[in-house]
Amino acid sequence: MGQFDLIMLGPPGAGKGTQAANVVSDYGVPHISTGDMLRDAVKNQTPMGMEAKRYMEAGDLVPDSVVIGIVKDRLQQPDTAKGFLLDGFPRTIPQAEALDAALGGIGRSVGKVVAILVDEEALVARLTGRRICRTCQAPFHVSFNPPKTVDVCDRCGGELYQRADDSEATVRNRLEVYRAQTEPLIEYYDKQGVVARVDGDQSPDKVYAEIKAAIGPAA
Ligand code: ADP
Ligand code: AMP
Repeated sequence: MGQFDLIMLGPPGAGKGTQAANVVSDYGVPHISTGDMLRDAVKNQTPMGMEAKRYMEAGDLVPDSVVIGIVKDRLQQPDTAKGFLLDGFPRTIPQAEALDAALGGIGRSVGKVVAILVDEEALVARLTGRRICRTCQAPFHVSFNPPKTVDVCDRCGGELYQRADDSEATVRNRLEVYRAQTEPLIEYYDKQGVVARVDGDQSPDKVYAEIKAAIGPAA
């Protein structure tokens, strides 16, 4: 068990959300994005959302205790029985350790960590031009992946918007936070022998071909 217990790792803007859509559709596993879950909580003004908001606006990480709690709850859902795709989690060593402990408790372990690697300046251009669907969260880009109709989602017809934390100043901080707190996870998972490094500086199709080769055939 655990072959399809998958993690998408990589800096903000690497293409995790874009590629997650391909993986969930081909492998039939649920897409678990902590960023999407937190943005939902902020929108609905839940107590957790109200706590998370200031960290997200600054481009800092939401405290581990909060994020670990929402992921543990989500992994209890029956749709994760045959696998899952975590996107944006874990982002710190304590989060990775908590995930290992939770999976170990049910006889599972992380099957593959797909580390998408992209040059830093390309990331700034990707994030500042990103547009997201308000309804289904699909990511687009004004130049690199434009929707067929301006500001309208190709997938569901929803309205596209720019995330407040995709401004250049906040993006720079998010990239710094990534280098300091999240990048060390590549080494953490290397020790488990589960990392597949993927060159994210290519077209989305080519990136996905590398990811598919790393994960292997769907069950
Ligand atoms: P992440 O989830 O890692 O933060 P996204 O999937 O939201 O990243 O992608 C960030 C931005 O870059 C989006 O605007 C997306 O359309 C664009 N993008 C994704 N993959 C590529 C690629 N291979 N080449 C160019 N732009 C891309
Ligand atoms: P993302 O959508 O993955 O780019 O995440 C957006 C923001 O949500 C981040 O900048 C953090 O503030 C917060 N966030 C998402 N996932 C996590 C996590 N695993 N740990 C801490 N904060 C997170």
